[in-house]
Amino acid sequence: MPLNKSKKKTPMPAQKPEVRRRNFNEVALGYTEEDAVNEAQRCLQCKKPGCIQGCPVQVQIPQFIKRIAERDFDGAIKVIKETNSLPAVCGRVCPQEEQCEQRCVVGKMGEPVGIGRLERFAADWERAKGVQVPDLPAKLSKKVAIIGSGPASLTCAGDLAKLGYDVTVFEAFHKPGGVLVYGIPEFRLPKAIVQEEVEFIKKLGVEVRTDMVMGKVLTVDDLFDMGYEAVFIGTGAGLPKFMGIPGENYLGVYSANEFLTRINLMKAYSFPETDTPIKVGKKVAVVGGGNVAMDSARSALRMGADEVHIVYRRSEEEMPARQEEFENAREEGIIFDFLTNPVQIIGDEKGWVKGMECIRMELAEPDASGRRRPVPVKGSEFTMDVDTVVIAIGTGPNPLLIKATEGLELTKHGYIAADENGKTSREGVWAGGDIVTGAATVILAMGAGKKAAKSIHEYLQSKK
Ligand code: FAD
Ligand code: SF4
Ligand code: SF4
Repeated sequence: MPLNKSKKKTPMPAQKPEVRRRNFNEVALGYTEEDAVNEAQRCLQCKKPGCIQGCPVQVQIPQFIKRIAERDFDGAIKVIKETNSLPAVCGRVCPQEEQCEQRCVVGKMGEPVGIGRLERFAADWERAKGVQVPDLPAKLSKKVAIIGSGPASLTCAGDLAKLGYDVTVFEAFHKPGGVLVYGIPEFRLPKAIVQEEVEFIKKLGVEVRTDMVMGKVLTVDDLFDMGYEAVFIGTGAGLPKFMGIPGENYLGVYSANEFLTRINLMKAYSFPETDTPIKVGKKVAVVGGGNVAMDSARSALRMGADEVHIVYRRSEEEMPARQEEFENAREEGIIFDFLTNPVQIIGDEKGWVKGMECIRMELAEPDASGRRRPVPVKGSEFTMDVDTVVIAIGTGPNPLLIKATEGLELTKHGYIAADENGKTSREGVWAGGDIVTGAATVILAMGAGKKAAKSIHEYLQSKK
């Protein structure tokens, strides 16, 4: 029997909504040692743990939780790191409610064990005392190039470096980390954590070259000519989609991508101490219903907007955002306009946004996605009084590198076609993460990077 029979998770200390809505500091503050031990004692140590099946990288969950319950925090992080190289990130941003925690048996009678919170605790505990670099094998003479530096690439690079390969990461931006640095806001994932993960990869011997827009500066062919024997492409799905309605070119209309990149990567919230400004008005509409929309809306609030609306064409039930992020956003005062769709953006004589015309929607039969199809209600048009619009309706693959690479087979939506190990149609080239699956999750991208590293290793060993 567990020592803690509470039906509820041990609460996580957090900043109060009325305080956090105006700052960029992390919202959730993490467990103390006592909290963590208390929560670990809710785990039943199942003989057939469903939770492991729910984790895309199969973290040995009961084993690490047992160690936390015994106060062996060193042992706990060791178990986690056998399969997950970015636990401080995953503990914060994994959609646990659809993965490990969804399959936790304790969840049938109340709230599941707080697996993500415990993973975060173990990772933060290790970070506080200083992460140890493992003993590395003698360096091999074989070179591997990794394009992009998001979670797929960082995982692939780290695993190959641990095997002794000479690994170089080529990143287009001036900072490595992918969406972890340019997309997910500081208040959900502090950038210092991502930076430490990148430093760890560098300590493993990986060279990270930034400001390298691959496909323009160098092509995959150039890399092979330079002596790289394998290439991994992890360039993500960062090309924003627009609605195709009149007025999208007015000043004050942003793609979520640009909006979040300016705020997170370029730290527009510290302007003029930093170089990049952003103009966020007093009344903001964010179009979309996913995590990216939640992050954009909550960022707009922190940039000083008085009123922020999320405009979503379906109902709350169909909204794809994580429940936790939806609740956080609502607590902070974001207004949700469900069953509402923009028709056009209205501008003033100087070309700035001054409103957005919308139409009310109703739900019809389910469409191909299985969700009920939204259809406009005739004559229900109305104008929202807004001065900033952020469009967060999805992204696609950036075609720059793909177009410059011969022999890559693509899917019908323009993503790179790859087998379950990330092997593409071109010999010596692997791909993984969002550039293969379309926009997905951090842990799935990491899983893809891991599988590709194993496959690249087998390939390079067979070439000896
Ligand atoms: P990315 O993280 O997209 O990294 C790709 C990298 O490749 C980028 O650094 C890019 O600059 C670089 N690149 C692109 N083209 C080139 C080129 N030609 N040359 C060199 N470099 C190039 N997932 C979760 O699990 N939980 C969340 O809470 C969550 N929230 C999210 C919030 C936002 C705002 C966004 C946008 C995504 C979120 N996701 C979340 C999704 C998750 O971040 C992605 O699925 C994941 O980052 C994909 O990893 P990746 O390595 O495939 O690519
Ligand atoms: Fe759960 Fe994600 Fe950790 Fe796996 S990596 S145990 S899914 S939080
Ligand atoms: Fe513990 Fe839940 Fe996993 Fe069982 S399913 S081992 S209770 S975390």
